[in-house]
Amino acid sequence: MKIDILTLFPTMFEGVLNESILKRAQEQSLVQFNLVNFRDFSLNKHQKVDDYPYGGGAGMVLTPQPIFDAVGSLLKQSDENARVLLMTPQGERFTQKKAEELAEEKHLIFLCGHYEGFDERIREHVVTDELSIGDYVLTGGELASMVIIDSVVRLIPGILGNKQSYEQDSFSTGLLEHPQYTRPYDFRGHQVPDVLLSGNHKKIEEWRRKESLRRTFERRPDLLTDVHLTENERQFLNQLIQKKR
Ligand code: SAM
Repeated sequence: MKIDILTLFPTMFEGVLNESILKRAQEQSLVQFNLVNFRDFSLNKHQKVDDYPYGGGAGMVLTPQPIFDAVGSLLKQSDENARVLLMTPQGERFTQKKAEELAEEKHLIFLCGHYEGFDERIREHVVTDELSIGDYVLTGGELASMVIIDSVVRLIPGILGNKQSYEQDSFSTGLLEHPQYTRPYDFRGHQVPDVLLSGNHKKIEEWRRKESLRRTFERRPDLLTDVHLTENERQFLNQLIQKKR
């Protein structure tokens, strides 16, 4: 996968792209990052990339020319149909489902805004997707794009050693993940549930699925509306509902 990142602050990415899974993904040639400072594309003699908003008001707005030209040049070099992703608090809320969808792509271009945001014509004529990482406003799109890149890249086949490790993750199954325990069995009087030491894989799977349902019911009941449940699981959920009443 090729990932281009258009930003005015490329050095912000240095730590994040060069550690852990993202570093390994590049070493394995499974992903290639290209940081582009779109100021370099400005035709303004002072390399300005922003201007006052028409109609007045606070703050500066990113002008269309540098971003149109930077994206145009990246698309010209690409054989693939790139997805052009605008980071904006007004976008579609980013989810694990969207991460799975983007992990299938060969070329992603991230647009990181700053100041008051972008000239509307960028939205209308350059972008394929508008994404928000949550209902709050960041100073710039850099942190949002790092969050999205991290969650997408870890899903590219071959990057995580064990496919199961993301298939069981929260949201991938539609539920929150079950609780996890590791050694020691007894930590300061707090013990691990015995079923996990039983060696009975069927029982362990049943316990995990139930705990996953319990946890989702307690913390994120909104997720349960979209999940396929067996008759047994539905009964278990009904018991949880009765108990809460
Ligand atoms: N005035 C804009 C508005 O109200 O929609 C907010 C501009 S914000 C200060 C500057 C930039 O940060 C945005 O253009 C966007 O790229 C990024 N940004 C801020 N919050 C974000 C969020 N929740 N998700 C994704 N990007 C965000």
